[in-house]
Amino acid sequence: MTTRAPIRIIGAGLAGLTLGRRLKQLNIPAVLYEKTPPPSSSFSRHNYAMTLQYSTWHDILLDLLGTNGPTLEKRLCVDYENLNKIVDGTGRKIDIANDDSSIPDELKKDIRIVRSKLEEWLRDGLDIRHETEMSDPTLITSEQSSSSSSGHTDNGSSDMKNPILTICADGVHSKLRQKLSPSTELEILPYVAYYGRRTISLEDYSTSFHDKLLGGKTFTLYKPPSSGQNSSNVRLQVHTNVFKDDGNKVEIAYTYSRPARVSNIDETKDNDDGVKLEQRQETQGEQEEQDPLYTPTRSPSAAKKVPDALFTELESFATSILSSTDQFTNTTTTKNLINSLLLSPSTNNTTSEQQQQQSLLQKDKILSWLMRSHILPFNERLRISKQYNITFIGDAAMSSPIVGGNGANVAIFVADMLGKWIAENRGNEMEMEMEEWEKLINGIYENEKAEGVEGLERVHRHVM
Ligand SMILES: Cc1cc2nc3c(=O)[nH]c(=O)nc-3n(C[C@H](O)[C@H](O)[C@H](O)COP(=O)(O)OP(=O)(O)OC[C@H]3O[C@@H](n4cnc5c(N)ncnc54)[C@H](O)[C@@H]3O)c2cc1C
Repeated sequence: MTTRAPIRIIGAGLAGLTLGRRLKQLNIPAVLYEKTPPPSSSFSRHNYAMTLQYSTWHDILLDLLGTNGPTLEKRLCVDYENLNKIVDGTGRKIDIANDDSSIPDELKKDIRIVRSKLEEWLRDGLDIRHETEMSDPTLITSEQSSSSSSGHTDNGSSDMKNPILTICADGVHSKLRQKLSPSTELEILPYVAYYGRRTISLEDYSTSFHDKLLGGKTFTLYKPPSSGQNSSNVRLQVHTNVFKDDGNKVEIAYTYSRPARVSNIDETKDNDDGVKLEQRQETQGEQEEQDPLYTPTRSPSAAKKVPDALFTELESFATSILSSTDQFTNTTTTKNLINSLLLSPSTNNTTSEQQQQQSLLQKDKILSWLMRSHILPFNERLRISKQYNITFIGDAAMSSPIVGGNGANVAIFVADMLGKWIAENRGNEMEMEMEEWEKLINGIYENEKAEGVEGLERVHRHVM
């Protein structure tokens, strides 16, 4: 019988939950600490779709969740195409527009799942302490008196004593990483990306959108290249996302992205000292003059601030798509599609209507996304691991840009690997073995970081 304290996992996102689940399956006690409240049946902040690679859902999740392919698809996949089945959910493997022959067959085994549904399944049976924000490494690692007040922040309650190991899976803005490795900075890659979500009634979806959205498949439109060029780097990717309110509403999500139009892109790091920040703000001023959509030093709370220039640019995007050859062999025209999606179901483009459509769009949920990339360097991992018996996984350890990146897949892969590794190395000297883990994982993270940056560039290099 073991008397050791449970393993502690900070953050119950995809990495933390995957790890918790694998440890539970291997009969290793673990407690998860999550700063947000438990999701309610009516609200989940992760109610959106994401792409899982075949190697993630087939090779890891089927085993981890103890299920088979059809059941997993039915429970997790974004549903579309057959409207009668929307509410029950049937899921489908291939949702990438399959008339695109440039997409390798392997990719077509990827699936689009609803993140909140996956998290709900992973959470089942785990010991998760919600509304518990862990952000002070000295409190996390010190032995504390159980007489300290019981509360909800780093409180030192008895189950926090003598941790065998603490795993930080607290996401890209990890406060623990910022405190333990302040020199590790988030790099902002020079790209503009806006993520919009429009919710429409099931009725409107059925009558006006379903066919135009290729039956719900994910697809990408590119702005025609300027004259004399054969490739385009301005793209709009469209997903039919989540069915809400018992299937009575459908959410369409789109990501508009392109390289930033800037000349000086070197001074764009997060988390810097005051002097550098001042310099960066000056640089940002220049960048905004060149590219009003590129705001690399914006605060997280300013993500919802959408410059008017976005709407002008979307309109120009739509117009240039309209004047180009129809990119689809589908029954409906691109013109209808663009108008339906970005503006409104109307196809009459009078000036006043356009204005009305723009204001409609502004009421949609639109966020500016920063394309972040970082890695906790090996020497820092090693130092933190030795000093505090803390290791980092998921976006807290390495982030790749949301567009073109694979953050969720990497988070699940590494978390699962760590769970198995802990089971194999769980002797009394496991702390000593952590060096081996840090070595093992560093190569994977370095590779994935490079892949993320390359992925972002690749999806913006479209030969027409
Ligand atoms: C809209 C969107 C679409 C995406 N699509 C894809 C996709 O298609 N494919 C893909 O591979 N990736 C995708 N990603 C990226 C992916 O979601 C992330 O890479 C992944 O969620 C990282 O998992 P994580 O567990 O490391 O971090 P997170 O999921 O961010 O989880 C961190 C958790 O820690 C908690 N936390 C933070 N600080 C503390 C603290 N101090 N104490 C306690 N708890 C704390 C947070 O509340 C959160 O629950 C997408 C991301 C977004 C936003």
